[in-house]
Amino acid sequence: MNQLIWHFGAKDESIAPDIIKEGWLFDSSQAKLANNYTKAAKKHLLTLLTKKGREGQSDTIDWLQKVLQVKKLLTKESSPKTIKTVFTDEANAKLELLFRGHIFELEKESWFKNYLKNPIKNKYASHYFDYDIWISKQERRTELMTATGVVICPYCDRQYITHFLYKLDNGEKNKTLSTLDHFYTKSKYPLFALSLFNFIPACYGCNSVIRGDEALNIYPYCPNYNNFSVFKLEIPKSNIKENTPEIDKENETNNLVDFILCKENAEFSITQTASKELTPDISAEVNSDINTLKLNNVYTVHQDYVKDLLTIKRFYEEPNYRSYVENLLNATLFKEDIKFPVTLNKLRLFLIGYDWINETNSSDLIPKRPLSKLTNAILDDDYITEIVDD
Ligand SMILES: [Zn+2]
Repeated sequence: MNQLIWHFGAKDESIAPDIIKEGWLFDSSQAKLANNYTKAAKKHLLTLLTKKGREGQSDTIDWLQKVLQVKKLLTKESSPKTIKTVFTDEANAKLELLFRGHIFELEKESWFKNYLKNPIKNKYASHYFDYDIWISKQERRTELMTATGVVICPYCDRQYITHFLYKLDNGEKNKTLSTLDHFYTKSKYPLFALSLFNFIPACYGCNSVIRGDEALNIYPYCPNYNNFSVFKLEIPKSNIKENTPEIDKENETNNLVDFILCKENAEFSITQTASKELTPDISAEVNSDINTLKLNNVYTVHQDYVKDLLTIKRFYEEPNYRSYVENLLNATLFKEDIKFPVTLNKLRLFLIGYDWINETNSSDLIPKRPLSKLTNAILDDDYITEIVDD
């Protein structure tokens, strides 16, 4: 139950994002999509219940028991008179909350709390809130992914979320190269398998290869999610001694960066760890998620990128180079009488190739480029260098 804290406010309800309170979809066009989704999902559920009931007499009793479980789960009542009354108005309203993700409303309901503790109800729920039957249609998945506006996997910040239409002789076809992750896994919380808030567009690696059925603690759309962890450049002690015997103290950031930049054999790893500002229990959860998502393994491949950024940053910090670039921009791009204000953003746009400041400086913005968080951290000196034992 621990990982439900971010939804159920045991720690700090104020950090629960609107996505959890209101579902994924906010503006009017998206609200229409959410309405259609909810309507279709409810219809699907009813069809499933009805269909299962018609599949041969011998299954009827078993089926009826399942219906009773689902109905109980949704309405508190125990004996539906006919199939058509399986969804009462009350049950419909609860389903709406469930599909649309109004988790704070559901939390007030005792049946919901009981459901979460009851493995038998979970088992029945998995028959009816069946993601594989319902959502595996690519059109529906693509539609939802597009509506979220997420273009970079929020777990690793490395891979693009890609989906597109292409033409065939007999019409168009959707392709999604990414997945919809279930923040609360389908296996443990089948009741959330079709809930909009629970869908996190994520890369295939994070969702399927790395995470699997492991629980995560921190919802990736919590405000300040990007500030919950910091990057560390860790240099093995033996590597330092071998190459630069004089550097042997910690906290010598400049020396260590020099080491990384100048020594051809410099070895370092890029790791993440919970920010010091967090309380110990949240800190433990952040570190657990970093471990679950194997972020300290997958970032190994980005050593070259970090070296490049550190080099660019050195150039940028050299006053002569900076004024040269400013003069060059002014001389080549603008008339003599106009002085182009080379702001920090503009200069970095020129040096780095994109306006990364707008990508991540606000926790409300969803990154549009891979490695935004790492880029931001290196260019802003918002990282730790450390000598570590081998
Ligand atoms: Zn990922």
